[in-house]
Amino acid sequence: MRFHKAELAFFVFIALLAGSTMALMFPLYRLGVLPMPGNSIPLTGEMVATGIGVAVAALLLITGLIFGLFYIYPILRIQVREEAHLREMAQSLSQRSESLEQAAMTDGLTGMQNRRYFDGALQEYLKEFRRIERPVGLMVLDLDNFKLVNDTYGHDVGDEVLRSVAKCLHEFTRFHDVVARLGGEEFAVVAPNMDSAALAKFAERIRQAISLLTISAGNVRLKVTMSIGVAVWNGREEASEFYRRADRMLYRAKREGRNRVCA
Ligand code: GH3
Ligand code: MG
Ligand code: MG
Repeated sequence: MRFHKAELAFFVFIALLAGSTMALMFPLYRLGVLPMPGNSIPLTGEMVATGIGVAVAALLLITGLIFGLFYIYPILRIQVREEAHLREMAQSLSQRSESLEQAAMTDGLTGMQNRRYFDGALQEYLKEFRRIERPVGLMVLDLDNFKLVNDTYGHDVGDEVLRSVAKCLHEFTRFHDVVARLGGEEFAVVAPNMDSAALAKFAERIRQAISLLTISAGNVRLKVTMSIGVAVWNGREEASEFYRRADRMLYRAKREGRNRVCA
């Protein structure tokens, strides 16, 4: 059985009480006030008075001991248990809220970060990069003719395509890039410390990698392509304006024939 600090303190207190009681009993015994075998010294009035005083004090201490052990201790024990229970509950609640928070930021299908996470992360990056005056690149990627994949092979195959694309994006990005599925078949990558030339190259590498993927789902094997819009932050614009600029580039890539990068 494990004891709480309060219980241990209580035991020390009880031991002190018990010790004091014994210490008081000793002179009683010596004085011959206690009816012990061999006590045959004649008692004086003073001895009796001292003996009575000490005996009352010892009695009070014993009452204190009994009260402590049978009344205070059970209450203490219940409170200690309740406190431990509350602590466990608080812990499990905070774990739960952590995992809920995690779930609220994660895309269920691909396991990658979702739009909510992306929005927050982009703002955070811009705030930090405004301070250190370094470039931030943004890529918005959209699968080409994805509706056709769903219509031809079914939604499950479409889902497998999304998972494979997510995996490929993870493989091609660096650990400090933010990679998210914004919704449907649209993804985004925030690439800090990238100027426009580096970003265009990076996007082109990703576009090629996706176009070279062969996706297997059941007995279906298929290839897909992506259009990518890129933009480098101008150091002043808000996250939403920056995103819109990259998104406009994506639509240009679509208009110009898909499976390409537009900057
Ligand atoms: P575009 O090249 O212009 O982007 O054409 P598209 O067909 O890719 O674009 P469109 O917006 O017409 O269609 C997107 C499709 O993505 C329609 C929708 O059914 C599908 N989609 C969205 N979310 C999911 C998903 O979670 N799983 C699957 N399998 N399909 C999805
Ligand atoms: Mg599309
Ligand atoms: Mg789309």
